[in-house]
Amino acid sequence: MRLTADAKARNARVLDGSEAMRAMNGTPESQEMMKKVEQVLEWIDEADAVVIGGASGISTANGFDYYNHHTPFFNKYFADFGKIYHEPSCWQLLYHHYNSDEERWAYMARNGCVMLDLPAGQTYLDLHALVGDKDYYVITTNQDAQFAKVFDPERIFTIQGDAHWMQCSRRCHDKIYRSEETLHKLNASIVHGKIPTEMVPRCPVCGEVMEPWVKSFIFHYSSYWDEQADKYKAYLKEHINQKVLFFALGVGNMTPEFIKHPFINMTYNWPNARLVLLNIGEPDPMKEIADKTVAMNADILETLKTMAEMKTGTTRRGTRSNEQVYRNCEEN
Ligand SMILES: [Zn+2]
Repeated sequence: MRLTADAKARNARVLDGSEAMRAMNGTPESQEMMKKVEQVLEWIDEADAVVIGGASGISTANGFDYYNHHTPFFNKYFADFGKIYHEPSCWQLLYHHYNSDEERWAYMARNGCVMLDLPAGQTYLDLHALVGDKDYYVITTNQDAQFAKVFDPERIFTIQGDAHWMQCSRRCHDKIYRSEETLHKLNASIVHGKIPTEMVPRCPVCGEVMEPWVKSFIFHYSSYWDEQADKYKAYLKEHINQKVLFFALGVGNMTPEFIKHPFINMTYNWPNARLVLLNIGEPDPMKEIADKTVAMNADILETLKTMAEMKTGTTRRGTRSNEQVYRNCEEN
């Protein structure tokens, strides 16, 4: 199997994670990591509520890589678009300057269908097992609909929108529309990176072209978004004095203001709150809340697998390493 430089770098980083920890058997590093894992399991057990904050790292860990160039994931689902529009990643195809709505919506349809049709990633399944029957709420910056495949959609705040919805690009009225049916029809009609003109989705009120309901300069903060935000805030308020565990996964430096910074603030200010941060490259916790924080600089896939196995006392069947996911993408 040929791996791209990005995939090689990722796999090298995996070895910094919990798999390496187990392989190291009793070294100070592995003992330190195991202490953290045990601490997190204890905190989950003691929590009255778990507030999960998920960002791109928790999806990328499964091989669903929208950012890196020419990954097997990209090659499997987007190779035709990559060739036609000379772009190396989904991220760049998303921001490509298309010459027409027919071209742009063809890509939007493919992208949306991939997100909606992919099975739940192993990180999400393991996280779900880890949370078990605890009271929980999810806030996510991810737009790929993965959380809704395993967690209750009524308990998820998609703060940057997600693939399930469309809006008017002029924001002429306060309504967003389910997108599944449209996306699948469009995706089935793509010819050489374009859809037929008459299929470009149009606003039923003003006739302007529709837009996926995901964060952009024309994102519509609809009543639906307000309702989601109010429910999330109400949930937080309700638990302010309880034992709340904030669990941030895969939150990097792109949009820390939505998950990481509020989680840190609440942990600092709430009497019984605790915080777990899990991401590759996660720095040490802030000293003001060091006794209430576990920061794990580790691979999300392997770490969640380890914790889910310890929590449930079972081997997590079906758990695949990143390398296997890449291989599967290449073979299919
Ligand atoms: Zn409109």
